[in-house]
Amino acid sequence: MRRSRKVKILATLGPASSSEEMIGKLFRAGADVFRINMSHTDHEAMRELVRRIRSVEQDAGRPIGILADLQGPKLRVGTFRNTKEELVVGQTFTLDDNPEPGDAARVYLPHPEILSSVRAGHRLLIDDGKLELKAVKCDGRSIVATVVAGTRISDRKGVSLPDTELPVGALTEKDRADLEAVLEAGVDWVALSFIQRPEDLAEARKIARGRALLMSKIEKPQAVARLPEIIELSDSLMVARGDLGVEMPLEMVPGIQKQITRAARKAGKPVVVATQMLESMITAPVPTRAEVSDVSTAVFEGADAVMLSAESAAGQYPIEAVATMNRIAEQVEKDPNYAGIINAQRSAPEATGPDTISLAAREIAETLKVSAIVTYTASGTTGLRAARERPQVPIIALSPIVETARRLSLLWGTHCVVSPDATDLDDMVDRACRIAHREQFGAPGDRIIITAGVPLRTPGATNMLRIAYIEKAGEAA
Ligand code: PGA
Ligand code: MN
Repeated sequence: MRRSRKVKILATLGPASSSEEMIGKLFRAGADVFRINMSHTDHEAMRELVRRIRSVEQDAGRPIGILADLQGPKLRVGTFRNTKEELVVGQTFTLDDNPEPGDAARVYLPHPEILSSVRAGHRLLIDDGKLELKAVKCDGRSIVATVVAGTRISDRKGVSLPDTELPVGALTEKDRADLEAVLEAGVDWVALSFIQRPEDLAEARKIARGRALLMSKIEKPQAVARLPEIIELSDSLMVARGDLGVEMPLEMVPGIQKQITRAARKAGKPVVVATQMLESMITAPVPTRAEVSDVSTAVFEGADAVMLSAESAAGQYPIEAVATMNRIAEQVEKDPNYAGIINAQRSAPEATGPDTISLAAREIAETLKVSAIVTYTASGTTGLRAARERPQVPIIALSPIVETARRLSLLWGTHCVVSPDATDLDDMVDRACRIAHREQFGAPGDRIIITAGVPLRTPGATNMLRIAYIEKAGEAA
């Protein structure tokens, strides 16, 4: 089974898509990686989802990636005596350290470190920005604010602080427990929410010990400001437009999306564009024109993956949403302008074996008629660098390590296959040709390019490029 597109589809699982049958249907409709949102999933349910995805993977015979998304330091107000309150623009409203239920004048903010770091003039955005407060007086234990816009507040609504650098790391106690559990369950990627600083990755990196790769969700202005350093320390990025659009003016999000996708492509780190891509499909079987255009923009930018959130997790049309993304991606990638737009953002290779071999492979593929680039990659490094070149022909990544194949399933243009190491050069060529044929990427008589690092299993040691013909049946040695 092969996909006819480069960009990958990441589908969030939730109440609308938790059964093994639904996961199988989403996979067949086009989902390459599944996201488990730890904000809404307990450990038992998470383990069950992982088991079901692995069972679908087994049936499909294709590696499937799993991304566990940690909640991060999501701030919330406490509760109200009457569960909700109506405020008036211009009135004073206080957030404080008193755990008593709130009223129209005050509410508990159960985050002492926030109470002490907000300064007069900072904005507090409640409930995704529907209510905006501005701090006027802060004494470390309470924030006295004025209501600037909006009127409604209710129990446990989220609080965003775009102007305040929060003295908190990216991992809460809940995140630490969740991280241990998802690593134990064998997920491939872990997404970190609300990171602000490069240092925020350090603890997760230490706990993960290589068992999963890390995805930094860029959803705070503080993270945008330090993007290059964060990219450097991350394995992949997510343009988390949901919270980004709360913390920054909405009209800045498209430009930031371009900035992040370009910087991630340049670094050769996979980048995911997320949130509200097909939002109207939560309740409708067809998307809006604007949504189709939004998905297309991400595909034209050469993002590695486009993501569905509530559309696949809790909507009425999860399968249609995946199928719609699949159709949009296939069509955009056939567009006569597509290759030119992708090429315009290609970065020069770094002075390394994997980069120069990947560049040569792409140029050969563009000059000769070649049906695939087959890359032997144990750790995944060579696969990442091959995809960074954004060649127009498919990349087939062969790895003896199933975890590598699952991780690379997020990667642009890459079809991952688990295959034992080749025994010698002849076996390497034979195996590459056989797999390209078997996986429907080439027919007998077609040419393929093979890249590898010899000896095999030396990470980043790519030093070989071969051009080979897929032989007619019976001719193979
Ligand atoms: P979330 O992250 O869905 O976990 O909030 C994505 C986003 O904020 O866009
Ligand atoms: Mn978010």
